[in-house]
Amino acid sequence: MSFKLHPSIDNGIKQGSDSFSGGTLHCHCQTSPITITLSSNVLHNHACGCSKCWKPSSATFSIVGVIPRSALSITSGASKLFIVDEAAVIQRHACKECKVHMFGRIEQEHAFFGLDFVHVELSGEIGWQEPRFAAFVSSTIEQGLVAPEEAEAVRKQLRGLGLECYDSLSPGLMDVIAAFVAKKNGTLRASKL
Ligand SMILES: [Zn+2]
Ligand SMILES: [Zn+2]
Repeated sequence: MSFKLHPSIDNGIKQGSDSFSGGTLHCHCQTSPITITLSSNVLHNHACGCSKCWKPSSATFSIVGVIPRSALSITSGASKLFIVDEAAVIQRHACKECKVHMFGRIEQEHAFFGLDFVHVELSGEIGWQEPRFAAFVSSTIEQGLVAPEEAEAVRKQLRGLGLECYDSLSPGLMDVIAAFVAKKNGTLRASKL
């Protein structure tokens, strides 16, 4: 059996383009959709199994990437945006009508401050960076999307697409967070490499 991971990867992953320079995200409203213009490609695009990231109803994972906040602008429908959870570290700005998340933004001191979180499937353009790993895979069990006995089969399917699986973020991103904490604590050591 194969799991419905996400419509944009279920039939294989299409590589992005190094020369791609951005595009426009649209919410799902048929009339007066919110549009967000991104003036660069995304970074760290990945499949995320956490409970907070927006995903289509049939999907087990969200596909989410980051972009510098300076590269993101709301080009229409700003009055339809609301913040899903004001208490969350990532303030997810969603459409009041169709509930699609348009971008997530961090407003507090954080390793990822300055980066916005976006879902490039909301764009019709081709060339966005492809997903490169899967994060928070075990969280799909907590949400009742995957049975504990199915988790390894889900990981196998993700790896088959070339996505290494983690139950947190990828090691590179976890290191960025840890380095931020060490710097704050004054414990960041200099490299001897
Ligand atoms: Zn909408
Ligand atoms: Zn997530």
